[in-house]
Amino acid sequence: HQTGRSREAIVAERKRGLLPNLSISYQEPIKFVRGEGVWLIDDRGRAYLDCFNNVCHLGHAHPHVVEALARQAGILNTNTRYLHDNIVEYAERLTATLPDDLTVASFACTGSEANSLMLRMARTHTGRDEAIVLDWAYHGTTQALIDLSPYKYKRKGGEGRKAHVFEAAIPDSYRAPADWPVAEIASRYAESVADEIAEMKRQGRAPGLFMAESIPSVAGQVFLPEGYLKEVYAMVRAAGGLCVADEVQVGFGRVGSHWWAFELQDVVPDIVTMGKPIGNGHPMAAVVTTKEVAASFNNGMEYFNTFGGNPVSCAVGLAVLDVIERDGLRANALAMGDYLLARFRKLQERHEIIGDVRGQGLFLGIELVTDRKTKAPANEFARAVNNGARRRGVLMGTEGPHDNVLKLRPPMIFAKADADLLMEVLEETFDEVAARQ
Ligand code: PMP
Repeated sequence: HQTGRSREAIVAERKRGLLPNLSISYQEPIKFVRGEGVWLIDDRGRAYLDCFNNVCHLGHAHPHVVEALARQAGILNTNTRYLHDNIVEYAERLTATLPDDLTVASFACTGSEANSLMLRMARTHTGRDEAIVLDWAYHGTTQALIDLSPYKYKRKGGEGRKAHVFEAAIPDSYRAPADWPVAEIASRYAESVADEIAEMKRQGRAPGLFMAESIPSVAGQVFLPEGYLKEVYAMVRAAGGLCVADEVQVGFGRVGSHWWAFELQDVVPDIVTMGKPIGNGHPMAAVVTTKEVAASFNNGMEYFNTFGGNPVSCAVGLAVLDVIERDGLRANALAMGDYLLARFRKLQERHEIIGDVRGQGLFLGIELVTDRKTKAPANEFARAVNNGARRRGVLMGTEGPHDNVLKLRPPMIFAKADADLLMEVLEETFDEVAARQ
């Protein structure tokens, strides 16, 4: 079959003609030529089990989505200033998956664009720029969002924390101070938000918004302690701020039990932002909010987005919702997640290096530590497992401030046979890497 340029030629051409900080996965890069379901196929015809890329929510090249996209592209694509059924049908279907107060949808093309639109909404609604974010969060690639992303601004090349940005501790139960009673972990971490609000007050400021991923991902697949968002939302609202859930990675039923991961915390945000899986690979994104916030945003300035909400994207969005519902993929995610978690726990019994396993549905993490007491991060081991799995044909990632958390987000169609293959590879790889220690 046609494979095009060699891997080496592409790397050379990327170096010459693309931004030098456009990174490449793996030391030995992979060139994929085709995707099908849970599989990615490389230029040598080798298939890899994709347990990492959460954009391909229903699996790569899902036929129902491809057909909907092609059909609508062959009929009409234009902007939202002309009437079309798809945008209103999609807005109805999307908001129906959300709590009652979240009734107003708007559409964009990337998660960053959705979060940027959210920032403008929060600012027009509250009149404030001040934001509270969680440590090690990532919310997008525009300057305004890099400024709200400790994961970027605190690292090499970043400019540090700006004066309008306030950083609360990442509520990581596994790494909570040992002297905190377990029942108080949520409240103790919520105190960090209270501290930031108090600091704002001292500076004559107040929060415009509090924003968090419903399951912080680049922070290491961190599951918020029960009750955390309830306490935090109450504090932020009492101070006049809006509460924002970034569902770009974790939304669309990935957690199985619910459509949206914030629902695990039994809260209702004022604004929800969505991206990645929303179009199964087609670039689209959304912001859903209340009629009150939408009314404030309607301040005389038109909202126009050339591509956001176009008939093709909305057809794709509808097709994605169809498949999640028709094929019972939330139930599948929940069952496969439970199965994998049980197997991870068995693996943990055999490998002292596994400090923690966590997950819900198909959003999963395995945290590696050189010592279960000190919890010193085993980032080298994590990297070796990631590379070893790749050699055996399974894709995953490493994540977290110490890069010691194996991150897995398989597609929602993940079947038991796929889970068994993943486990076989993980078991072999852990044994191999452990034997080398
Ligand atoms: N929010 C979160 C939580 C993300 O993970 C990302 C992308 N990694 C974004 C926002 C930005 O989305 P995009 O890259 O589509 O602009």
